[in-house]
Amino acid sequence: MKKNGKRFLCLFLAVLMCCAVLPPKAHAAQNGNYKMVALTFDDGPSPYTGKLLDALKARGAHATFFMVGDRLANYSDYRKYAKRMADEGHQLGNHSWSHAELTNYGYSKVSQELSSTRKYLVEAGGDKTYYVRPPYGSYNSTVKSAAAAPLIMWSVDPLDWQYRNANTVYNNVMNQVRDGSIVLMHDLYSTSVDAAIRVMDTLISRGYELVTVEELLRRRGITPKAGEVYNSAPNKGINLGHEIMDPEYYDESKLSQHWAYNSIQQVLEKHIFSGLGDGKFGPNMKMTRGMFATVLANYCHGTSTGTASFTDVSPTKYYAEPIAWAEEQGLISGYGNGKMGPNDPLTREQAALILSKYLAGLGLEATPGALAYTDAGRVSPWAQEAVSVCTQLGVFSGYPDGSFGPKNTLTRAEAAVLMLGVDARVLAIPQEEPPAGQSEE
Ligand code: ZN
Repeated sequence: MKKNGKRFLCLFLAVLMCCAVLPPKAHAAQNGNYKMVALTFDDGPSPYTGKLLDALKARGAHATFFMVGDRLANYSDYRKYAKRMADEGHQLGNHSWSHAELTNYGYSKVSQELSSTRKYLVEAGGDKTYYVRPPYGSYNSTVKSAAAAPLIMWSVDPLDWQYRNANTVYNNVMNQVRDGSIVLMHDLYSTSVDAAIRVMDTLISRGYELVTVEELLRRRGITPKAGEVYNSAPNKGINLGHEIMDPEYYDESKLSQHWAYNSIQQVLEKHIFSGLGDGKFGPNMKMTRGMFATVLANYCHGTSTGTASFTDVSPTKYYAEPIAWAEEQGLISGYGNGKMGPNDPLTREQAALILSKYLAGLGLEATPGALAYTDAGRVSPWAQEAVSVCTQLGVFSGYPDGSFGPKNTLTRAEAAVLMLGVDARVLAIPQEEPPAGQSEE
């Protein structure tokens, strides 16, 4: 394979075709037809919480639990419920340590009521978004500032603590609930749990999604702020789909605002990346090992008529030929157990290893030295040389804080920037005299 020749062909084609600019399509459904309600449960956990969690799980529904710290501290079963809530995608909120009326307290006592409870929410793994519901819904400026979190109230109160009757509680909820409601109930009472299960079934049958408060607010375009109070989130023109909750999601109607937009355009124009096939690029998506082999094969115009030796590379997948090519070129060797893990995320040190091999094939080498990154000790032994070489060649650089993040997964946007770095290095090879080692294959 004449790599330089192919490269120039590629450049000419890119200039001639010059048409692979991203279509500025609006994909985001700003006004989707979603109807959502956030069910919230206070004062628990209790002996009935397990039944409620079972019911939520069976229905694919999510809820928010504002829990009382001393209950979590005193009962290991309740701590297990809290852990289960976090594991099953519910939101864990803070309802103070002792269910005290916080407006009677000063700043430090309020802070203490909340921080002692928060410790258990963190321990359960549910501290990703942290909201507070002060007991009795009572707050003042001291509570707002000591909470240092959004305060979540409600728009539907069935008075379930007063009417210990599932029918009454169900009817009270259904008479008030609407799209965007935050419903207050208590998993402290079996009647409330029974009513909540009926509410779920009715709302689901009417096309509602049952979501956490966090999801309700975000999908309605609200970014909650510490010390602000939220009661509901009706549809005021922004009504987004569930996919925005995915950390890999990016609203591609705003792609031109992405930090890597220029690089993304360039890799598309150069046909290094081909997009996801529906006009999308997926800049925040994790780069998989199969994707990276494909990108490298695109860049090199690498083709193969053979098949890869890996048992987990299906010959019908898009990455089958690129992986076969990369294996033939000695750029990848898989995990050593006959597997390649084509759908596994690609780490930065894995990318460095592959690229160092590729660059060495072009005669671009450097003498490996000690790594100066602050987290150099976390680089796997098999990747030390590769990271050093890639760093010296200017293909890879660390983060602004001086670390390298060897185990971090590359996003597609980061991989685009990386491949442009490779391209710049390859383009800098003197053309008159092709470097040694770059012969006909
Ligand atoms: Zn309460």
